[in-house]
Amino acid sequence: MNQHWRATLLTPAFTAAGGLLLWPMVGPAWAATGAALFLAVLLTHHRAHLHQLEIWFRDARADTLPAGSGRWERVFSHLSRLLRRQSQTEGRLMERIQRFEAAGAAMPETVVVLDEDNRIQWCNPKAAQYLGLDPARDVGQQVSYLVRQPSFVEYLQRSEFSQPLLLRLSPPGLEEVSLSVQFVPYGEHEKLMMGRDVTRWEKLETTRRDFVANVSHELRTPLTVLNGFLETLLDLREPDPRMMQRSLELMSQQTTRMTRLVEDLLTLSRLENTLHPSKDEPVDVPELCDHLLQEAQALSGGRHDVRLRCESRSGLRGSTDELRSAFGNLVTNAIRYTPAGGQVEMRWFERGNQPVFAVSDTGIGIEPQHIERLTERFYRVDRSRSRETGGTGLGLAIVKHVLQRHQAHLEVRSAPGKGSTFSAVFPAERMQPVVHNESLAAVR
Ligand code: ADP
Repeated sequence: MNQHWRATLLTPAFTAAGGLLLWPMVGPAWAATGAALFLAVLLTHHRAHLHQLEIWFRDARADTLPAGSGRWERVFSHLSRLLRRQSQTEGRLMERIQRFEAAGAAMPETVVVLDEDNRIQWCNPKAAQYLGLDPARDVGQQVSYLVRQPSFVEYLQRSEFSQPLLLRLSPPGLEEVSLSVQFVPYGEHEKLMMGRDVTRWEKLETTRRDFVANVSHELRTPLTVLNGFLETLLDLREPDPRMMQRSLELMSQQTTRMTRLVEDLLTLSRLENTLHPSKDEPVDVPELCDHLLQEAQALSGGRHDVRLRCESRSGLRGSTDELRSAFGNLVTNAIRYTPAGGQVEMRWFERGNQPVFAVSDTGIGIEPQHIERLTERFYRVDRSRSRETGGTGLGLAIVKHVLQRHQAHLEVRSAPGKGSTFSAVFPAERMQPVVHNESLAAVR
């Protein structure tokens, strides 16, 4: 007989044995009454506990579980153990789900889990932000109701996911973004919809393409001119020596232009390939300003009033070559964009604790809408004026890079027809106490 039957038959057997024991002492009627009373008490005991159990089920929590007595005490303690185990398992599962959700939330990609009918099951915050989804409201919705771009709907219908799809989105509060979306089937029929923000990469790609197109364009013009002269000279049996001389001069101008362009391109590429200044040496800026003054005067050829105000004795820590190239570009521009009779002034001074190199001119000035774009490669306000004066369109791009590498920035103030001031503002930490007293002079 197994344990279950033994336990079940024990009570009637015990009651019968008790009745039989009482029989000789009190007679059959009292013995039967005693047995019946015993059974009634037992029944009441069980009914009371069953009732407690039923009530407890309405709000089944471990802390409200009744204590019980007799067999019921054991039953309730089993139940309590079961509940504890269950809540531990639930806790572990919850922790895993939370860890999964935290990992999903931390992912830089957008992630949407879709069921076999392309209904949203879950999405991470990045997906909510980029695709404009509301995790609380949109779970269970068809993804194509919410992302309505025709290319997306078609891509989803085709169910051919070997190539990613490029979506252009305008999420609220963000600039337009490009999202490369890829579907990854998993499980029975579910799909993961993963999206990567490729906006920056696309911009870089466009910049690269524009750059190649610009360089080709810049080289094509002088090459065409050179070719034209060469063909003419080859066709002439006996070229006129004066015409020959003139042609050679013009050809030389074109090769100089190409050389300048290639040099600027090489300088830019060197600057872009390393993040920090190539050197961190003391730069004697007052001395550098003296050299720049002489160069500017030579370039102006007496057509401008070129001045230097060196108001600080300090120098800078950085690369002398790079700073010479950047400051030189600012000064050259001031001369090139200032008509004869105008004034160009270089100034080296401290603004608060920041060292500043500024070049002001009384030249043609710049309309405000151009100012932000001046440091872009090949950006020119007036293309022909830039070319006539030997510009490559790369000068200010070089300035920007050099300044960035010295943690400095460029400030431009300009008024069309009145003139411009370009200021290179350096951080205080770049200041280098020097220098020769002779360099310090008010106005030269
Ligand atoms: P560029 O070789 O054409 O001078 P830069 O990069 O040095 O190229 O300058 C970009 C453009 O900024 C120039 O084409 C010109 O239109 C404008 N610019 C630069 N410096 C000055 C200045 N001092 N005054 C007026 N315009 C200027």
